[in-house]
Amino acid sequence: MTDRIFDCFVCLKPRRRGVMVAGRFLCDRCQQEMVDSRPGVPRYELFLRRTAAFWRSLKEAAAAKE
Ligand SMILES: [Zn+2]
Repeated sequence: MTDRIFDCFVCLKPRRRGVMVAGRFLCDRCQQEMVDSRPGVPRYELFLRRTAAFWRSLKEAAAAKE
């Protein structure tokens, strides 16, 4: 939890409430929607795409340090 406003890496909107995940900000709303999302839910595809890009960027950052 933080008092600062960050751009959520899923919805890309500035949010005050959320958690930091490996240096990226995930807002409370997306965190909850991610938990509730499943195939067939319209936002599920979006979450998959954004989280895939997120993990890929982490992997690239780790590779760059080697
Ligand atoms: Zn969000």
